[in-house]
Formats: sequence, structure tokens, C-alpha cells
Amino acid sequence: FIEVSNLKKSYASGAMTHEVLKGIGMKLAKGEIGVILGPSGSGKSTLMNIIGGVDRGDSGEVRVGGVEINRLNDDQLTEYRREDIGFVFQFYNLVPNLTVGENIEVVANISKAPLDVDEVLAAVEMRDKKRRFPRELSGGEQQRVSIARAIVKNPQILLCDEPTGALDYQTSRSILQLLERVNREYGTTILMITHNEAIAAMANRVFKLRSGEITEEAVNQVIIPAERIEW
Ligand code: ATP
Ligand code: MG
Repeated sequence: FIEVSNLKKSYASGAMTHEVLKGIGMKLAKGEIGVILGPSGSGKSTLMNIIGGVDRGDSGEVRVGGVEINRLNDDQLTEYRREDIGFVFQFYNLVPNLTVGENIEVVANISKAPLDVDEVLAAVEMRDKKRRFPRELSGGEQQRVSIARAIVKNPQILLCDEPTGALDYQTSRSILQLLERVNREYGTTILMITHNEAIAAMANRVFKLRSGEITEEAVNQVIIPAERIEW
């Protein structure tokens, strides 16, 4: 479903070019959970941003559902990003002067969302906080809202860049369980970046990235639900 082959990406830094992705190949089937592990600066976010249509690769192929997204024009890429991709970030990225409900409605409107705002708020157990502002919520609650915002358009793929990076242990566990539920109930394919190797046990596939290369790809034969993972 996600098929990346020989993906390369460089950034210019002064007179030099820095090759951030050096020929990445990876696959994730529809409905699977994939985890990307790797040290800081190894290219994890760059890879995720290209899969999400936020950035473009220089060469190689990125196929999502059979479509080569590197070959889409800018308008088509924007449409792909809006319709097919949900993003969840470490620091939630909610709009501070909009309420919880409005944060989700904004996304729901631009993507003609198939799901209803109240439905997704209920799914993340935040329906009673619909009229609150982000600053009135804990970090874990803000992350629940950002997940609701990402899933209201029922995206094909949910891309999560260190979704628990700013949260404490128990809150992290509950957010991971919520992502599992989204995967199960909506069939959403999830690709998640984490620094925590233990979390990789909840994934179908694990990709280890180092200096712009996949150094290891593992298929977990036994998947351990987040509820039972300890770290
Ligand atoms: P972290 O775990 O710290 O988030 P990462 O694995 O996500 O790291 P990336 O953000 O993908 O790493 O960055 C990989 C490299 O690419 C870094 O050296 C970074 O400085 C560089 N880089 C990323 N984005 C840009 C950009 N827009 N312009 C120039 N260089 C960039
Ligand atoms: Mg990153």
C-alpha cells in the first residue's frame, strides 16, 4: 500500500549538499502499523513528510495505493495531503484561539470530512471538552484532540511523528492504545516515528533508519498490544 523505492533527498547547505535520504526502500501494507526508529537527524521526519506529501523526494518512487506521489503536480499533491493523510505531531499543533470543536471543524470543512466532529471527539473521549480552548487542556488531552482532528477526514494513512514524545508514561500508553483503536476500528494504516524501541512491539513492521538508510526492517510475527508493553 505504501511502497517506497530508492528514495533520495538532499538539502543544500551552503556550497555543500547534504544527502538526508540515500535510497530508502520500504513497504507497509494497508491496515498495518509501521514504526520508524532511528537516531536524531537520521531522516525519519524527512521520510514521513515525503510520504505525507508535505515535501518531495529528489528521485526514486513513493507509491501510495498505486499512485506515484512524486509525480503529482502541486495541486494534486495538496489534494492528496488533504484527503488521504492525517498528521499527529509531538507538540499537538492545535490552533490556540480556536476551541477543541473548532480545531476539528476547520479540518473537517476543508476535506469534506466523512466523519462527524462529535463522533471523533467521542472516539477520543473528549466530547465533554468540545468548547474548551487548547490551553485549558493537559498535554494528553491536547494529543487526543489532535488525533481526532487527524481522523475526522478518515484518512488512508495516519502519520505520527513522535506522538508521545512530550507525554508522561501513563499518558503515552493511553495515546498508543488510542492509535491502536483507530487502526482497528477505521482500518487506518499508521506509520509512527518513535525513539522508544519497546513501542515497536505494537507494530506489524519496524524500520530502523541510520544516516538516511534503512539498516533493518523487521516483521513482527507476534504483535504486543500497547497495554502490555512496558518500558
Ligand atoms: P529527530 O529525531 O531529531 O526528529 P529526524 O530523524 O526526524 O531527527 P530529520 O528531521 O529528517 O531527522 O532531518 C534529517 C537531516 O536533514 C538533519 O540533518 C536536518 O538538519 C536536515 N534537514 C531536515 N529538513 C531540512 C530542511 N528543510 N532544510 C535543510 N536541512 C534539513
Ligand atoms: Mg524528526
